[in-house]
Amino acid sequence: MNIVVCVKQTPDTAATISIEEGKATWGDAPLVLNPWDEYAVEQAILTREELGGKVTALSLGPEEAREALKLALAMGCDEAILINDPLFESADTLIVSRALAAGIMKLGEVELVFFGRASVDSDSGVLGSQTARRLGWPSISWAAAISHHEGAIEVERMIDEGRQVVRSSLPAVISVVKEINEPRYPSFMGIRKASKAEIPTWSAESIGIDGSLSPAVTWPEMFAPQVKSAECEFIAGQSAQEIAEGLADRLIAEKVI
Ligand SMILES: Cc1cc2nc3c(=O)[nH]c(=O)nc-3n(C[C@H](O)[C@H](O)[C@H](O)COP(=O)(O)OP(=O)(O)OC[C@H]3O[C@@H](n4cnc5c(N)ncnc54)[C@H](O)[C@@H]3O)c2cc1C
Repeated sequence: MNIVVCVKQTPDTAATISIEEGKATWGDAPLVLNPWDEYAVEQAILTREELGGKVTALSLGPEEAREALKLALAMGCDEAILINDPLFESADTLIVSRALAAGIMKLGEVELVFFGRASVDSDSGVLGSQTARRLGWPSISWAAAISHHEGAIEVERMIDEGRQVVRSSLPAVISVVKEINEPRYPSFMGIRKASKAEIPTWSAESIGIDGSLSPAVTWPEMFAPQVKSAECEFIAGQSAQEIAEGLADRLIAEKVI
């Protein structure tokens, strides 16, 4: 089975993000493989282990995004491709999904495409469905379990009310949630192999996208949330009972109870 997993490089979730001159910055904080995408990579590898075939990790991003692709290779993906072109600077999800769909078509004969639930930075959570729409393939979001049947898949979707079972023909696009598996750590051999791997770069032109691209959604400005100030008051007393009574009086005075 020819499988693609789409991955994004994001700032570490522990990074402190600040706003400078209307733009988000995370300073020197490390960039990582989007944590949700580790589950997508793991599921792609598990599917290959069950059914055979090949897993290609695909990312659209700057040169540094190679590091995220190397982690996907170290975990066990067979190949990785970076889509990188100045045309994609300030791309919105419509442009990114168009580029990813074009990259998937260029790979040919793909049967399954995995996405993470969302990226931890932009967090729109729409790219899987948008890419499926571009490909004209079924989109199955929030997958928490997948089983394979002759030319079809059965997926348990994680929804608020419980789990919904859906069946789909292939090819299909699936976004996964973290309940689906436990991502493996890259092995020492995997890390060595990834460090030597060639990661080809595909330009916009090489995937059939040319001319100027203007995003439908633009980001004119970002601003930090208003800082809220709070006062802290300690209730003192000679005994626990006196403190409790003082606390109850204050809560009643503030109409909390
Ligand atoms: C410098 C910069 C400028 C930007 N300017 C704009 C702008 O002007 N207008 C605007 O609307 N957006 C802008 N964006 C956001 C950009 O459009 C999104 O980062 C991108 O479309 C992906 O959306 P998302 O991160 O919300 O993905 P989600 O939909 O939340 O991600 C879902 C899944 O899609 C996959 N995925 C996400 N991104 C990629 C990727 N790049 N390659 C491969 N797989 C991926 C992953 O599996 C991920 O788990 C900008 C981003 C950057 C870095």
